[in-house]
Amino acid sequence: MPSPRSVATLLLAVACGGAGAGATADTSQSAGDTAVGIEAPADIAAVEPVSAAARADSAPITASQVELDALASAMIIPVQGVQSSALHDAYAEARGGRVHEAIDILAPRGTPVLSAADGKLMKVHESVAGGHMVYAADASDRFVLMYGHLERYADGLQPGMALRQGQVIGYVGTSGNANANTPHLHFAIARGRPSVAWWRGTAVNPYPLLHR
Ligand SMILES: [Zn+2]
Repeated sequence: MPSPRSVATLLLAVACGGAGAGATADTSQSAGDTAVGIEAPADIAAVEPVSAAARADSAPITASQVELDALASAMIIPVQGVQSSALHDAYAEARGGRVHEAIDILAPRGTPVLSAADGKLMKVHESVAGGHMVYAADASDRFVLMYGHLERYADGLQPGMALRQGQVIGYVGTSGNANANTPHLHFAIARGRPSVAWWRGTAVNPYPLLHR
């Protein structure tokens, strides 16, 4: 059986930590999480039985430009009231020894987090680094959309339920390793096959898809 580390970039590695400890939401675009508790990728595979299909389908998939354009057209900014001009491209920043591979969308604690696209809820997951997390599939089953550091989940979330673009799935917070002074949504996207493996895919930068 291949090591989970060998197959592709793994989504669960929420690498918010390490940047700008002590920054405040008012003065910094960085989420400034403290560098604690980066979760090992193996942890997530351990909580999810790996099916034969998932093992057979473990080759990394790279998103094509056509696929990225289609996803961009299908998405909204997943935090209520945030304009594209307020987004900051932190995808390639180093955080606690990793590359961030996500964007952090700053908003007051408790701001509704919205499903960025139509699709399906794959998993609600408790992570040391990411805290209260939601993993969803887009409608094409090509992309995993990952939402982290939630204050709490929306009521009634069930794995497998359909999601509509704009549906409230949770609320902005600081769960996991987020700086308590900097509530934000950690939002990541990966190209994979979420119906086969919701935790795995090749990371895609959300910023150019949302900043249009
Ligand atoms: Zn982050």
